[in-house]
Amino acid sequence: MTGARESLLGPSYFYHRGLIRRSKGWSPAEIREYQDARFRRLIRRYGDGITQTNDYRQHLRRYTRWNVPLLAHAVRTGGTSGQPLRFTADTFARRQKERAYLFDIWSQVGFAPYDLRVRYCGDFHDGLLRYNRLENAWMISPAATQEHELGALRRWVRTIPPFFLHIYPSSLYTFIDLVGEDLFRSLPIRGVIAASEMFPAGDQLQFEHEFGLKIAHWYGHSEYAMLAYCCRQCRGFHFYPTYGYAELLSSDVEGCRRVVASSFNRIGTQFVRYDTEDLAVDPVGSCAKDHFPRVSAIVGRSQETFIDSSGRRRSLFGYAFGDLDADAFWDQIRDLQFVQDKPGFLLLRVVPSPGAERGQIQKAFERRFPMAKLDIEYVSAIERSPSGKRRYLVDRLAGGQV
Ligand SMILES: [Zn+2]
Repeated sequence: MTGARESLLGPSYFYHRGLIRRSKGWSPAEIREYQDARFRRLIRRYGDGITQTNDYRQHLRRYTRWNVPLLAHAVRTGGTSGQPLRFTADTFARRQKERAYLFDIWSQVGFAPYDLRVRYCGDFHDGLLRYNRLENAWMISPAATQEHELGALRRWVRTIPPFFLHIYPSSLYTFIDLVGEDLFRSLPIRGVIAASEMFPAGDQLQFEHEFGLKIAHWYGHSEYAMLAYCCRQCRGFHFYPTYGYAELLSSDVEGCRRVVASSFNRIGTQFVRYDTEDLAVDPVGSCAKDHFPRVSAIVGRSQETFIDSSGRRRSLFGYAFGDLDADAFWDQIRDLQFVQDKPGFLLLRVVPSPGAERGQIQKAFERRFPMAKLDIEYVSAIERSPSGKRRYLVDRLAGGQV
């Protein structure tokens, strides 16, 4: 078993672990120097045009190096647009490299390599549970979490030693519903590993406050072109400069930049100035953690943006959470949700804390949203969507349901 695990922590793992540690001490100039050399090599080879998924669909061979058996293998992903994309990835180094960065991200909540995990992450298999020795992880099959199996799940989850809960942000509340909130609160969960998928900082803070658990979260794509960790200090995202190159280009959404990524892999498909179709919100203030390129939030093209009274699309994040003192804020509010019914108007549903100053809450939000008319509605709870996800923006203009 140990030998197999070591094969996952091979030379590429240790190389990148060392690189990550060193890069955290680099100055902005040292980061630029490292990235420029690699980026210029890509531009010389492929030109400097922005590329889209279709470029790789149509000209895969042009962007692929060392496509030989053993060294590289085919990968299929949903692609950033949701349409399938096939490309080629390094067989050995990619998994080891990936692991070095993920373990670094997970270490933010105290995870050490091969600590016990329980995954509720869409690992479909026969039966309710499967244990993966190599990963030291229990995997719960979502397909098997039907009503008559929940008793077995609840009995089992009580028997396991302290573990890290590995979930998709959108399935976190589903998991809590499945095991029951009281039991969930009593479990020896050491931390939550929230896999790459949008997980707004407001929702993270709300969860951490409500359950007293820390979340490790990150932003990446299955094309492996760039990776950013969600920083527990500034709650923004820091892009690992040694993983790939993320350019932040101007966009037509106020305060947002397009995320364009270039990969640093030598073997397999090389993504060059690849349009991820995601938007990033400019950082507010500075962060002492490291000098990595930084943004304060990642937003999908239509997710988490609202239309103000002059018809301009803005990122909700910057206004709702941008520089709020998180602790003081959550002392007043237990939960909140924005609903946009029509341009220029936002309905803000607030679950106030006992004894909260409603006048102060109202003033704080009105100060932050001078460009929209706010209606504040005090409610006792925010309803969850049928999938169990609690969204903090319901965009009815885009057809969103509560
Ligand atoms: Zn930070």
